Amino acid sequence: DTTDLIRVDLGERSYDIEIGSGNSASLAGFIEARRPTEHVVVVTDSNVAGLHADALSDRLTDQGLEVLLLEIDAGEPSKCADMAFELWSRMLEEGVDRKSVVLAIGGGVVGDLAGFVAATFMRGLPFFQAPTTLLAQVDSSVGGKVGINLPGGKNMVGAFWQPAGVLVDVDLLATLPEREYRAGMAEVVKYGVILDAEFFAYLEANVEGINARLPEVLRHVVKRCCRLKADVVEADETETSGRRAVLNYGHTFGHALEAATGYTRLLHGEAVAIGMTCAARLSEAIGAAPCGFTQRQSALLETIGLPTTTPVDLDPEELLELMWRDKKVEGGQLRLVLARTFGDVGLFADTPSEAILTAIGPST
Ligand code: NAD
Ligand code: ZN
Repeated sequence: DTTDLIRVDLGERSYDIEIGSGNSASLAGFIEARRPTEHVVVVTDSNVAGLHADALSDRLTDQGLEVLLLEIDAGEPSKCADMAFELWSRMLEEGVDRKSVVLAIGGGVVGDLAGFVAATFMRGLPFFQAPTTLLAQVDSSVGGKVGINLPGGKNMVGAFWQPAGVLVDVDLLATLPEREYRAGMAEVVKYGVILDAEFFAYLEANVEGINARLPEVLRHVVKRCCRLKADVVEADETETSGRRAVLNYGHTFGHALEAATGYTRLLHGEAVAIGMTCAARLSEAIGAAPCGFTQRQSALLETIGLPTTTPVDLDPEELLELMWRDKKVEGGQLRLVLARTFGDVGLFADTPSEAILTAIGPST
C-alpha cells in the first residue's frame, strides 16, 4: 500500500508527516530512517494501550528496538506537571539517555505531554508522533506546540519542539468513540472555512464517507488538513507574526463555551462547532460574509452530527465576559477571526457588543 508524505518545511527543523492506512506496521522503519536509534520511549494512555500501543510496541521490539512503555491515565488531567515529573523520573531510573527517542502514541493529551517531556528531558530528545485521534491527526500533532496545563490555566507551560516525524495511520481511528470522532471533524470543517473553499465543498460532497470513516476519504481529509496547517506553521513557526491566528476561528467563542460549561459538558470540538456558528452569524451580521454563509456552514456541521446552537441555559452576557478573558484578547481589544467567504477569514476588532451577544444567543 502507498503512503503520502507531507513535508513541513522549517529549515533544519523540517520533518515529514506520513499518511496512510495500515502504515503503522512500519513505524520502526519510519523512525530509524530519520533518527537512527536503538531505544524508544513510548508514551501512551490507558485507553490507547490495549487498543493499539501495546501491539505497536511489541512490533517495534520485534523489529529490534528496545522499548520503554510508559502509560498515563487517559484524560486531560494527566496533562499536568505531576505527570511530567513522573515521566522524567521513570526515564532517568530506566537509563534513558540522549541516544533515545520519544514516541507518542495517542491523542492530543499524550502528544502534548510526551512532546513536552521530550523537549525538556536532558535538554531535548528527538520526538515522534503516531497520533490516534482525529484531532491529533489533523491538528495537535502538527506545528510543534507541546506543553502541560497548570491548575490556573490550560497549556500555560510548554515549548515549541518540532517532531522529527509524524506517522498517521487512519486505520487507528476505527476504534475512536463516535463523539470524539465528530469533535475532531469540527477542526476539519474549520480548515475548509478558513483556508480552502474547494476542500469545504469536498467535505459537503463526502459526508457519507466521512460518517462511515472510509479510509480513502479519511486519508484525503487528513492529508489536506495537515498541508493547510503546515502552510500556516511554516509562515509563523513560533506564533509571532500573527498568521497562526486564523486557526482560532470559532475558538474565542468556543473557549468561552468550554469555560462556562466547566470543561466537562462539551468536548473541545463541539464547543468549536458552536463557536464557528457564532462567528459565522457575526460575520454575516456585520456584513463581512454574504447572507446564507452561516446556513451553509451549519448544514455541514449538522450532517456530521455536531451541535450548532448555544445551550439555552448559558447566559450570553457571561459568555461575552469569558471571551474578554480568553488569552487572545490583546491590547484591550477583542479581536475575532471572522469570515468574508469560504476560504477567506481575517481579524476584526471593534465589533459592537450587541452584535456579538446576538451572534451568541441561541439561533432562531
Ligand atoms: P485525548 O488525547 O484526551 O483523546 C480523547 C480520548 O480518546 C481519550 O479518552 C483517549 O484515550 C481516547 N483515544 C485516543 N485514541 C483512541 C483510539 N484510536 N481509539 C479509541 N480511543 C482513543 O484528546 P484529543 O482530543 O486527542 O486532544 C486534546 C488535547 O490536545 C488537549 O489537551 C488540547 O489542548 C490539545 N491540543 C493541542 C494542540 C497543539 O497544537 N499542540 C492543538 C489542539 C489541541
Ligand atoms: Zn481547536
